[in-house]
Amino acid sequence: MKKFDVAIIGAGPAGLSFANSLSQSGLNIAVLELQGLNAIEDPKPDGREIALTHLSLKIMKRLGIWDKIPQEHISYIKKAHVFDGDSDYTLKFDTEKSDLEELGYMVPNFSIRKACYDAVKAKENVTILNNLKVNSILAGDKNSVVCFENGEQLRAKLVVGADSRFSATRRMMGISADMHDFGRSALVCRMSHEGSHEQTASECFHYERTLAVLPLNDNISSIVITLKSPDAAHVLSMSDEEFNTDVANRFGNKLGKMKLIGKRFNYPLVATYANKFHAKRFALIGDAAVGMHPVTAHGFNLGLRSQDTLTNLIIDALNKGEDFASDTLLRKYNRRHRNVSRPLYLGTNGIVGLFTDDRPIAKLVRKGVLRVGNKFPPIKKFITHQLTEDNNSSVLKSFLPG
Ligand SMILES: Cc1cc2nc3c(=O)[nH]c(=O)nc-3n(C[C@H](O)[C@H](O)[C@H](O)COP(=O)(O)OP(=O)(O)OC[C@H]3O[C@@H](n4cnc5c(N)ncnc54)[C@H](O)[C@@H]3O)c2cc1C
Repeated sequence: MKKFDVAIIGAGPAGLSFANSLSQSGLNIAVLELQGLNAIEDPKPDGREIALTHLSLKIMKRLGIWDKIPQEHISYIKKAHVFDGDSDYTLKFDTEKSDLEELGYMVPNFSIRKACYDAVKAKENVTILNNLKVNSILAGDKNSVVCFENGEQLRAKLVVGADSRFSATRRMMGISADMHDFGRSALVCRMSHEGSHEQTASECFHYERTLAVLPLNDNISSIVITLKSPDAAHVLSMSDEEFNTDVANRFGNKLGKMKLIGKRFNYPLVATYANKFHAKRFALIGDAAVGMHPVTAHGFNLGLRSQDTLTNLIIDALNKGEDFASDTLLRKYNRRHRNVSRPLYLGTNGIVGLFTDDRPIAKLVRKGVLRVGNKFPPIKKFITHQLTEDNNSSVLKSFLPG
C-alpha cells in the first residue's frame, strides 16, 4: 500500500493550491483526482471568469501561481456599480481616494486551474494520481486508509476533501451540510460591445433576474445572468441575435450593441455550507467546505483562504514537533475558517434573497439599502473591504472621517 503524509482528494484550484502551499513543509503529498490528467493540465474554458481580491492576489503570488497566468488573461476592476430594477440610481465604489489601483482582478477559471497545476507539477514531494474514484475512507488513530473503486488503497496521516460543493468525501466522513437550492441558474458567457466598460463591474438587480457585466480586456465583458431555472432553458435556446439584443436591452444599452463570443454555459445555483470542516484525521477545504452563490464572487477567494489557514496551522505544528493532524489542530482550523466564511455565506444568501424578491416591500428595502450604502461611509467602507479583502486598504482609510 502506498503511504503519504497528506492525501488531498480533488485537483481543482483549491486542492492544487493546498498541495502547493503545503509542499514547503517537506511533507509527502498525494493529490487524487477523478478526472484524467489532460483535464487538469489543459483545462478548457468553462465560461467562469473569477473575480479575485487583493488577498487572493497575495496568496497566489506567494505560491507562484500568479506568474503562471498569461498577462493577457488578467483584467482589472477599477470601479463597481450596483443598480436596482429600472432605476438609474447607482451605488458606486471606486479607488479614487486611495492608493490602491484596482478593486480586484478578473481571471478565467480555466487559466487559474492551469496555473495552479503548472505551479505544483514540478514539486518533488507532490504526486498527482488521476482517474481515481474514492469508495471509502477509514480513519484510524494514527493514519487513515483511502480505498478506491479499482481495489487499490492508500495510507495517509491526514486526508483533505477538496472535491467540490457536492463533495462525496464529506458525506463519506459523515459530515452534514446545509444546502440551499435557489431554484435558479447562472448563465455565463463573454460578449464584445461597442462602448467601453471603463473597467467597471456592474451588478444589476432586475426583478426576475440579476445581470452582472464584468470587465475583461478590450471591449469585452463577462456576462453572468442569474434567473429561474425554467427561464434559463429559454434564454439558452435563443438565437445569438436574439440573445445579443436581449442582454444589450437589459443593460439599458449602456455599452451599445453587444455580441456573444463563444458558448453560453449554465450552472445550477446551489449553495452549500458544511456543518463541520473536520472529522478524525480529515479536513474540508474549498467548495467542499463552503460553496457560495457567485453573486458576491467569494467562492474561490474563500477556497484560497481555507487552504492558507490549514497550511499555516500544519506548518506551525510541524515546527513545534506536534501531530499535524491532531483533533486540536483540526478544531482550530474549523473555528478560524468558520469565523471568516460564515458571515460571508449568510450575507451573500441574504443579498440574493433581498435582491431577487419581487414583493413591493422588498423593492422598497432595496432602494433604501442602495441609498444608505451611498450616503453612509462606514457601510460603504464595510462593503469595499468585502470586495477587496485588503486589510491595509487605504480605500478603507479614505472613507474614515478626517
Ligand atoms: C458561474 C460562477 C461564477 C463564479 N465566479 C466566482 C468569482 O467571481 N470569484 C470567486 O472567488 N469564485 C467564483 N466562483 C466559484 C469558484 O469557481 C469555485 O469556488 C472554485 O472553482 C472551487 O474550487 P474547488 O477546487 O474547491 O472545487 P472544484 O473547482 O469544483 O474542483 C473540484 C475537483 O475535485 C474533483 N473531484 C470531484 N469529486 C471527486 C472525487 N470523488 N474524487 C476525486 N476527485 C473529485 C473534480 O473533478 C475537480 O477537479 C464562481 C462559480 C460559478 C459557478
